[in-house]
Amino acid sequence: MPNKNNEVLNVIILGSGPAGLTAAIYTARANLEPLVIHGSQPGGQLTTTTLVENFPGFAEGIDGPVLMEEMEKQARRFGARFLAGEVTKVECGSSPFTIHVGDDSYRCRSLIIATGASPRLLGLAHEKELYGKGVSVCATCDGFFYRGKEVAVVGGGDTAMEEATFLTRFADKVHVIHRRDALRASPALQERAFANKKIVFHWHAVVSAILGDKQKGLTGIRLKNVASGKEEEMACDGLFIAIGHVPNTGLFKGQVDMDERGYLLTGSGAETNITGVFAAGDVQDPHFRQAITAAGSGCMAAIQAERFLDQGP
Ligand code: NAP
Repeated sequence: MPNKNNEVLNVIILGSGPAGLTAAIYTARANLEPLVIHGSQPGGQLTTTTLVENFPGFAEGIDGPVLMEEMEKQARRFGARFLAGEVTKVECGSSPFTIHVGDDSYRCRSLIIATGASPRLLGLAHEKELYGKGVSVCATCDGFFYRGKEVAVVGGGDTAMEEATFLTRFADKVHVIHRRDALRASPALQERAFANKKIVFHWHAVVSAILGDKQKGLTGIRLKNVASGKEEEMACDGLFIAIGHVPNTGLFKGQVDMDERGYLLTGSGAETNITGVFAAGDVQDPHFRQAITAAGSGCMAAIQAERFLDQGP
């Protein structure tokens, strides 16, 4: 492990999802001896999915956690170092940058931020317990498992409409549950969803309970009409929660430029407003949020960090 407090490292990578680990593989292969700092969910969001079938190179698919383990092994093979710990403070006002992990601190000449985003959840009982057992936050990842089934999608934004439409490729019926009577989604996505006969809209509706248990998986949901107060149970095989994501950027507020939702702003490639600080993956991407796009931007961040370090102190 690098010397705390005094040694200045070439590069520190915050986060160990596909973006962080790809950046680790590239910077390690460039002999930069990166230090990857990861928090309580090493491997990122993919560790909560089951089969990943759309990551190129795995014709039969690969389990999300296995894919992340392999990426980590690949990064370690080239000399990447890993530190488990919650980053409590980041100082990137002047170089070298300082990363505080509890009482320890680490300094670096370049920083790659790949802290990802967390799906916004409903906050209901069983929601987390049934994750991967009927409850999902990613139709692109899990839709395939619902061939011939009946599913529900919560949300009225672009993601919810895209996911509902995508799910009709597999499911026989898709219920959209939205808390108002007007969608937030763009007109084009709305029209596509309205025209799809497999999609049924439930307006003024919220999910008030998630039904099922660990053994049986999800069996249904309870819907509450917020206008009338009436509740009813609805059987379904899948519940896709599409009520937005929250980028994990609290540590960078006031330092790294971000949009009004908190996503880090990247200019050319992975560059942020601070020279030597790069951002990759979901932390700077509200649109695509795929493992492969995250990995691609991690690669860009690594190459840009390498070029930056080549320019000397
Ligand atoms: P979003 O635009 O924030 O929409 C979230 C939806 O979830 C809203 O309809 C909201 O309802 C609902 N919602 C939020 N919290 C809720 C709760 N606790 N319970 C029930 N419903 C709740 O998020 P998004 O759809 O993920 O989109 C994020 C960004 O990515 C947007 O800028 C979007 O344009 C973009 N995006 C673009 C595309 C595309 O262009 N193809 C695809 C996906 C995403 P209210 O409407 O009542 O607030």
